[in-house]
Amino acid sequence: MSTTQLERHPDHWELRLAGPKVNVLNEALIGDISGCLDKIEADPAPVLVHSIHKDFVLGADITAFQTWFADPADQVHARIAATQRVFDRFGALEHPTVAWVSGFALGGGFELALACDYRVLDPSARIGLPEVTLGLCPAWGGCVRTAKILGYQAACDFILAGRPVKADVAISMGLGDLAGSDLSTARDYLLSLKDARPQRPAPAAEEVSIPEDRAGQRAAHQIGQLLNRVQGLDELDAQTCEVEVFVALAQAPESQALVQRYLNDQSYKRAGKKQAAQQSDINYVGVLGAGIMGAGIAWQCAISGYNVVVKDIQTDALSQARDEVEKLATQAIKKGRMTEEAAAEVRSRLLLSLDVDALAPCDLVIEAVTEREAVKHAVLAEADRVTRPDTFITSNTSTLSITGLASCVDTPARFAGLHFFNPVVLMPLVEVIVGAETDPATTAQLVRFAQSLNKRPVVVQDCPGFLVNRVLFPYLNAFDAMVAEGHDVAHIDSIMRDYGWPMGPGVLSDVIGIDTCVHASDVMAAGFPDRMPTPNPSALRERMGAGALGQKTGSGLYRFEPDAKGRTSPVSVNSPYDQADIRLPPEQVVERLMRPMIDELVLCVDEGIVESAAVADTACLLGLGFPGWKGGPIYWGQQMGWVQDQY
Ligand code: NAD
Repeated sequence: MSTTQLERHPDHWELRLAGPKVNVLNEALIGDISGCLDKIEADPAPVLVHSIHKDFVLGADITAFQTWFADPADQVHARIAATQRVFDRFGALEHPTVAWVSGFALGGGFELALACDYRVLDPSARIGLPEVTLGLCPAWGGCVRTAKILGYQAACDFILAGRPVKADVAISMGLGDLAGSDLSTARDYLLSLKDARPQRPAPAAEEVSIPEDRAGQRAAHQIGQLLNRVQGLDELDAQTCEVEVFVALAQAPESQALVQRYLNDQSYKRAGKKQAAQQSDINYVGVLGAGIMGAGIAWQCAISGYNVVVKDIQTDALSQARDEVEKLATQAIKKGRMTEEAAAEVRSRLLLSLDVDALAPCDLVIEAVTEREAVKHAVLAEADRVTRPDTFITSNTSTLSITGLASCVDTPARFAGLHFFNPVVLMPLVEVIVGAETDPATTAQLVRFAQSLNKRPVVVQDCPGFLVNRVLFPYLNAFDAMVAEGHDVAHIDSIMRDYGWPMGPGVLSDVIGIDTCVHASDVMAAGFPDRMPTPNPSALRERMGAGALGQKTGSGLYRFEPDAKGRTSPVSVNSPYDQADIRLPPEQVVERLMRPMIDELVLCVDEGIVESAAVADTACLLGLGFPGWKGGPIYWGQQMGWVQDQY
């Protein structure tokens, strides 16, 4: 079936993009557009291009990238160049062409619109070139044509931002020519043009600033260079440069990993759709404990429109939570994310209370009290008693068994883990932990609830450490053992930062808190004594014994001092050992630390703790800050030959 519809009106052609359900620039659509151009060329008249769907064109078919780019470089080059020539035919037509863009016109979709002479944008239009987020450059004329309109540096800025812009912004930039909310406006505009083609002066030559050539930035660097290289070239030669850069990027590991990350994210979203309830039963949320986590969770719920009651046993904790909420509101207002009125509304949705009966109307209770089993048992039983029998009760525990905690409530089927990460406002991941008796309907409600908070939930079966901590601790234990052997902490941290982690394992241990790390490592050792025994000797336990608990005490594996902005930062290593000067080469350090993490993640997939390798890898990006340009731990392990290809 054709993906285009072509109609000859008395005074113009109408080319409708009509892919099945949505328009994606795959070989079928490109071929059909080319077929339409044959007919238009044989009977010249002005052309109006638009979509029969909500969106103009979503972009190229990313699911085909891995197959396409595995071909020899000259074949990939030829395929991209062939599409460029198809798009060029719009500009070579005798009469003007107009694209009427509604919804998304992204990547190749926007390049198709750019290939037309003019663009009329519906208010719903969102246009952009997100190729850089996949480690690629626009190569169907996108770099060259954007530069023609915006100039080289502005085009570079637009392409490197990788974000779509709204119709009004696009028009103010010159990427759109007219606002028009219906097809007839676009048609009238086309017919009013007579035979006027855009007459733009060539963009002025200018030195485009080139982003540094470093991991995670390869495409950005190449795009900067490309926009310098194409200056003064004719359009065909400039587009040939585009293809050359594209092919080199597409066949390099970084882009391949970023494409895999994208595909993993799509699998993750499909899993979420399957797992989330259609209808939400949750309106009123109770948060037990007004500490670091409780305050953050309460804020996140209130800004998402929920009425929230926060219950603590200490007045001080409640007033600190109030201060935290005020701080978050001030930050949001300052950054332009919230108006004063919206902040007032958020405040009005929050009730702070010492009275447990205030939880009575709640549809969901999230327990975030001190991590002590006896305390949790008592508060969960109390929350269960004062709420309705159909209230969902959850715990934000990091280390206790969800199946074990479920014994404190009357209906374990309505109990689960809801594990937020610190700081709640910034961390996207929420683990929805399924206990032995958790009802699937409860899981579905909680997935939907977490989505409604603008978080990225991952369903995890109950086990020590759940998913993220279960894979983090083999890594931190390996690090702990290396430090105890006399390895240089700063050397390891620097290697792991170069690997792509936001911070090395030494600073990470200090930021989490050495005591918290030791406690969690003990929990993991009890849960998996064979695979995760307590490191012995243990540098972290030595530090804890000396009262050096990390950032919060000003010293741990590092010494911390306030920086100019008042934030405490690590200033020097505070190693527990006199001769800590072993410095292994990077690949050996990486293997010692990363292999245990990756092996454990693979085991989690094998055991069904998490749905798939794609979801597991996505969770590590969201919850641990694993570098996206490495794809994900399992994907990267496969590239290293450590993990079989079956995942
Ligand atoms: P916190 O010490 O900052 O706050 C705990 C709060 O619980 C305190 O305000 C305390 O007064 C209150 N509390 C104690 N007993 C209570 C009771 N009977 N009724 C009501 N309130 C009571 O702790 P936190 O860091 O916010 O951690 C809370 C939970 O979240 C723990 O289970 C922890 O494992 C988990 N968690 C913490 C982090 C983190 O990084 N801090 C991350 C994820 C999960």
